[in-house]
Amino acid sequence: MQLMWFRRDLRVEDNTALQSAINTQQAVIAIYVATPDSWRNHHLSPIQADLIYRRLFELQQDLAQLNIPLLYMEVENYQQSVQQVSDCALRYGAERVVFNREYEVNEQDRDDLLHSHSAIEIQGFDDKCLLPPGSVLNKQGQYFKVFTPFKRAYLARLTENLPPVVKTTAVRDDSTNILDIKAEQKESYPALLSPQSVFSYPRESSERYVVNSKAIRQLLREFCHERVDNYHNDRDKPALNATSMLSPYLAIGALSVRQCVARVLYSAQAHQITSPLLGEGIHTWISELVWRDFYQHLLHFEPKLCKGQNFVQWTEKLNWPGSKQHLAAWQKGMTGYPIVDAAMRQLNQTGWMHNRLRMVVASFLTKDLHIHWHDGERYFMQKLVDGDYAANNGGWQWSASTGCDAQPYFRIFNPTAQGERFDPDGDFIRHWIPELSAVPNKFIHQPWRWENVISLSYPKPMVDHKSEREITLRLFQDAKDFQ
Ligand SMILES: Cc1cc2nc3c(=O)[nH]c(=O)nc-3n(C[C@H](O)[C@H](O)[C@H](O)COP(=O)(O)OP(=O)(O)OC[C@H]3O[C@@H](n4cnc5c(N)ncnc54)[C@H](O)[C@@H]3O)c2cc1C
Repeated sequence: MQLMWFRRDLRVEDNTALQSAINTQQAVIAIYVATPDSWRNHHLSPIQADLIYRRLFELQQDLAQLNIPLLYMEVENYQQSVQQVSDCALRYGAERVVFNREYEVNEQDRDDLLHSHSAIEIQGFDDKCLLPPGSVLNKQGQYFKVFTPFKRAYLARLTENLPPVVKTTAVRDDSTNILDIKAEQKESYPALLSPQSVFSYPRESSERYVVNSKAIRQLLREFCHERVDNYHNDRDKPALNATSMLSPYLAIGALSVRQCVARVLYSAQAHQITSPLLGEGIHTWISELVWRDFYQHLLHFEPKLCKGQNFVQWTEKLNWPGSKQHLAAWQKGMTGYPIVDAAMRQLNQTGWMHNRLRMVVASFLTKDLHIHWHDGERYFMQKLVDGDYAANNGGWQWSASTGCDAQPYFRIFNPTAQGERFDPDGDFIRHWIPELSAVPNKFIHQPWRWENVISLSYPKPMVDHKSEREITLRLFQDAKDFQ
């Protein structure tokens, strides 16, 4: 028997570890272990917890089609999960435990513990990225610290050898196993997943996000069919539905990055990532998927990124004199800068925020309010339905100029100009800030300049961007001089 330990890879299609277990021709049992204490330490958002919870039932159904039962249990933390998975493997006489690797430090420690704890064979697989961390290096054999050369090398590798989608097959003969577990489950633990299973982590409704596998694949298909060709033109306009919105599924592994690439190539009837059949929209979208892998690769080489440290050493000397009141206003979407506030309200109400606006609000928090990126990173994780440690940490450090960015720290977004450029008519702003619905286009990005501003129940800008920009430049210069 083979035991498959599911984590953030909640799908049966194109699942490397699962298929390896199935390929043995032995019976396969799947297990999922909820670990609320570890999740709390990682600031897992209640909305993503709900998405995971709902997705588990879909996974259970999909696994049943393959003759694989899904066991479920809750313990406190990762350490206990190792103990329980080892015990479960022994109880059912597993020959091997398989799982897909996660690259964050606590997750790697958990897997190391499993290796040292178990007498049986343990095998981890690289599944999360298109190319595994550590496999794309520069000529000196070192990892890339800048995205563009990474991408070049990465795409060259993909052109030589595009990892295929793993074909999913059913376990040949295991209905007896399912029955055995059912008979045993009265006394034994873990039990089959059921609506009575304990899932004590706080949940907040994620109903607006589908969880059914077919429906998720349909979203990918629709994006590739209807929107990807214009992605390069429209992806920065938050009022349009121009991006894929697949991040919630990629984050919990309900969809794989290989499935995304395979589908987008198929839609262009191309076989190669460099095919001339691929238009600019597809190229730009694939670039974004490469960003996702880039941040995963960085974690592999820089465990300090999982410990709250800055990627760029000298920026550790930065001062962050921002205030708690300013942080609270930013969180609520009450800064007085319409594009920032609209974005934060989108996050608070839906668990998702447009990529351009993630950059805008992150720049605003760190460079206009001088608040440490840790505070923004944590708040995002607590709210995002697509929270992913590597992408979130990478995005925050990039925005705060403490991370991997080819641009120097004096790139500081002007929130008014960003609004004017990417939401020119204020459609996005009016959607999320009804208080501003009467403001004419001319003033929608600077309502404080409108003659009727007095009639608005909306705050004045809490800081002056121009002055705060100067302060940021000085703070960075001070840190640099200090090194
Ligand atoms: C401060 C900040 C925090 C972020 N936090 C997260 C996070 O917690 N989880 C997360 O998935 N993304 C994060 N991102 C990246 C990006 O904003 C989202 O992936 C994107 O907005 C998701 O929408 P989409 O699925 O429509 O993306 P699309 O534009 O359709 O892109 C397709 C996929 O590529 C990946 N991707 C796109 N852009 C990036 C990027 N810049 N970095 C890494 N991966 C990317 C995502 O998996 C995304 O689903 C963050 C960016 C910033 C600036």
